[in-house]
Amino acid sequence: MKRRNKLWTCLDCKAAILLTPLNQAPSYSFDGQTATEIPEDDLAKFRKEHQGHQTEILTIDLQSYVSYSPYSEPMAEGYFQAIGEKGGTYIVKRWRNCIDQPRKWAIVFQQKHIKKEIEKIEIQKVAITRLINEEKGDLQIIDNMIDYFLGVLEMHKDKIELDQAVPDDTFPLKSYASFTDQAIAEITLLCKRGFKDGEFNFINDFIQQQKDDILRIVVEQNYWFCPLNA
Ligand SMILES: [Zn+2]
Repeated sequence: MKRRNKLWTCLDCKAAILLTPLNQAPSYSFDGQTATEIPEDDLAKFRKEHQGHQTEILTIDLQSYVSYSPYSEPMAEGYFQAIGEKGGTYIVKRWRNCIDQPRKWAIVFQQKHIKKEIEKIEIQKVAITRLINEEKGDLQIIDNMIDYFLGVLEMHKDKIELDQAVPDDTFPLKSYASFTDQAIAEITLLCKRGFKDGEFNFINDFIQQQKDDILRIVVEQNYWFCPLNA
């Protein structure tokens, strides 16, 4: 059992505590001369506080994390989906009140799940233009033709493999999705019509080399909490 993924919760109070070895971390008292270790068990304290209440251990789905803050933000407020021992679905909030205090947890919804929706999809125009200009060598690809290429990409930007999008390292709701094979075929055909032979060969190679790299679409999502039966 991966303890880091488990929360001990009180369903009556909506309170939650993460089950980690830190639950058993000692705290110290200092009387001015000597520091004395006080054995403290946060979990025991939590259980005592919620004695007689309805408690349950939840398993957090770490992949479900959503937040509008970057991963690096220590004060970030975010949400996870979690499953109870009896099969209930929960949304738990994780936040921090103070930079030097541990993160707090609470149950915010029962029988709801996190649903993501696309907020914005964008071609990586600046990076594509820069890379074409770097790689074109002696080929005369005028700016108009780069614009044509970007226009063709723009036309197809909703034809992407969203399920296989690669998550961004910095922002939880940002990812990079490749065009579908069908979209790549259509983009290639439109380029064949628009570009002269030499230019087309270059653009065709560019598409093949970059389709899972710089040609990926930047997807930004937002989220909401959806009732299970909706
Ligand atoms: Zn309670």
